[in-house]
Amino acid sequence: MEIEGTDTPVTACTAPVAEGMVVHTGGAKALRLARSALELLLASHPVDCASCLKSGSCELQRIAKHLGVKLKTKRFAKILPELPIDSSSPLFIHDPNKCVLCGRCIWVCQDKLGRGVIGFAYRGFHRMVTTFGDEPLGGSRCQDCSECVAVCPVGALVFKSTAH
Ligand code: SF4
Ligand code: SF4
Repeated sequence: MEIEGTDTPVTACTAPVAEGMVVHTGGAKALRLARSALELLLASHPVDCASCLKSGSCELQRIAKHLGVKLKTKRFAKILPELPIDSSSPLFIHDPNKCVLCGRCIWVCQDKLGRGVIGFAYRGFHRMVTTFGDEPLGGSRCQDCSECVAVCPVGALVFKSTAH
């Protein structure tokens, strides 16, 4: 977003609110940066919406539409993570290949529920959400409360009961 009186756009989620602050989210500079960030994210995302359980309620789809970016954008070379899918929980599936690293699942598990079963591990391209020792969720301290699934904006954490 852009703040009146400053030259450089900032991230809305980290900029502190100040008295009299005037904010624009639709400015040309901010939109260009937001589109580029989305295209970079999509360069490592499988985009298999046709078979994805989150399709239709996915925030990545919604944001792409809002910013006028094609999900199958070819601006950056595609490099996919190809990580194993964890179906060990009786209730949900964790597909780290579709994760956008927003951290919502970690926040709910650690900060809201005080359990800390999942967290970020590794760096750079290899960064991912996982359990201590990369244990499958079904064999970890996970209690299958599914609060993480409820907050995941994409198809990285989805309920099995929605499977078709
Ligand atoms: S997470 Fe969203 S964008 Fe990615 S494949 Fe699923 S529906 Fe499509
Ligand atoms: S909430 Fe979903 S997209 Fe966000 S970090 Fe967790 S698994 Fe990844």
